Amino acid sequence: MATTEIPVKPPIALVIGSGLTGPVIAMLLQKKGYTPIVFEKYTENADIGTTIALMPNGTKVLGVADPEMMKEVYERSRLISAIYELNATGDVLGGNDDMVNYHAKFGGHAFGWQRTNFRFTLVERLAKRGIEFREGWALEKVVESETGVTAYFNEGRTAVGDFVVGCDGANSVVRRTIIEDIRGAKNPHAMYSGTTHWAGFSPIPEGWADPSSFRHIFAKGSHVVCYPFTNFSRPGAPTEFSWGVTLRVPEPSKKNWRTYAPDESARLIAEQLLPTIANADFPPHIIRILRETTRLIKFGSYDLEEELKPAEWHSDRLVLMGDSAHPSGVSLGQGVNMSLGDCYGLYELLPDLTTGADLAAQLTRLNTTLPAIFQKYAEKRQPITVALVKGARAQSLVRTALDWEARDESLRTRWETGEAKRRMEEINSEPFPGAVPPESA
Ligand SMILES: Cc1cc2nc3c(=O)[nH]c(=O)nc-3n(C[C@H](O)[C@H](O)[C@H](O)COP(=O)(O)OP(=O)(O)OC[C@H]3O[C@@H](n4cnc5c(N)ncnc54)[C@H](O)[C@@H]3O)c2cc1C
Repeated sequence: MATTEIPVKPPIALVIGSGLTGPVIAMLLQKKGYTPIVFEKYTENADIGTTIALMPNGTKVLGVADPEMMKEVYERSRLISAIYELNATGDVLGGNDDMVNYHAKFGGHAFGWQRTNFRFTLVERLAKRGIEFREGWALEKVVESETGVTAYFNEGRTAVGDFVVGCDGANSVVRRTIIEDIRGAKNPHAMYSGTTHWAGFSPIPEGWADPSSFRHIFAKGSHVVCYPFTNFSRPGAPTEFSWGVTLRVPEPSKKNWRTYAPDESARLIAEQLLPTIANADFPPHIIRILRETTRLIKFGSYDLEEELKPAEWHSDRLVLMGDSAHPSGVSLGQGVNMSLGDCYGLYELLPDLTTGADLAAQLTRLNTTLPAIFQKYAEKRQPITVALVKGARAQSLVRTALDWEARDESLRTRWETGEAKRRMEEINSEPFPGAVPPESA
């Protein structure tokens, strides 16, 4: 932290990781007058993964972080207006087209975004906004003192700052530092949670009803979701959608978890996936979609063997957000959205250093209040994210239920009683209710 002997400068936040959380918290910190520096262990924007399902509780945060970016993104994206859940025979179990009103109601649209393109867009914005970004810097450990932090990276490099924001994913070094090095406790591992997923891109079949929807098909012991997505770097994408199949696999063969080339993809679908789901009774058009895949990825769902308590989300000068605090399965489509909620949660609590108030006095106060700010942030975000991580686990069991008739009936009841709609609205009322952030209301 700055002292009176040296020129008063804004606090430096070392943001570790440039997945999706890191660039967004960096932009938000800059907005409040902090100096973020983003560190990423890889040097390439490798094209891994499929798509991210963004919902208003995530997109409203992107809108706060970079309104200009989001205006353009919305104009160029295939926004999602509806959600439908169907059974294997095509009966509609429930759904609605409320998403048309989500921006007005909750402050953000719902849409799918190819993860690589999403990340690339965020990293481009860092450069545009003059935020320093150091690629190829892999964090190894952090040491905190009363006056600041020193982060140690590969190749013997170091960086000093005022605090560290750990956005370094499920196997976070910042989490290990807080829990093992600082608290002397056992760092919980991210554990396989019992479902594996096959996901890919396929051409949208002619006559596909309501292409701008999240469409869930619940079959016997398995589930598929399809939705359109945005990819600014590939103009052909509007004619494709993203799909994902969930399977319950107690002991998976992890060596096959990766992204496959197009020629391999079709072969694996035919030789491995289709025989596995032969008894699921997916309708023929779903089988055709899977057969026509142009890209395939196989992966498993992970979450922590034991959830972190709020006090474990931070130390005096280190704080976690996103997958580093709460790795999650994918079955609720909330991994990224809840991580963006974390970004807002910290942003709203940090003092605004752009108001023209005496910076030296503000920094002195920040120096003593930072641990309390981190604790307050963690106490707010931990219960919300724990509920969503548990929800994703429960939903993965629903998706793969063998007692599918009872499952379908219970899904139908959730829509008929309004419970499904209520829960979606509750989730999208985070991290602030309504469409406008409190500070600008
Ligand atoms: C390659 C990849 C592909 C994914 N694909 C999908 C997908 O298709 N669909 C989906 O819903 N979710 C996907 N996810 C998960 C999703 O991105 C995360 O759940 C969500 O973005 C939360 O983001 P995060 O920034 O907290 O973590 P992550 O997105 O995991 O980002 C963490 C970042 O930190 C970097 N990092 C890790 N350790 C260090 C270190 N020691 N020093 C410096 N940097 C470090 C990583 O390289 C990574 O860039 C993917 C994640 C990754 C990493």
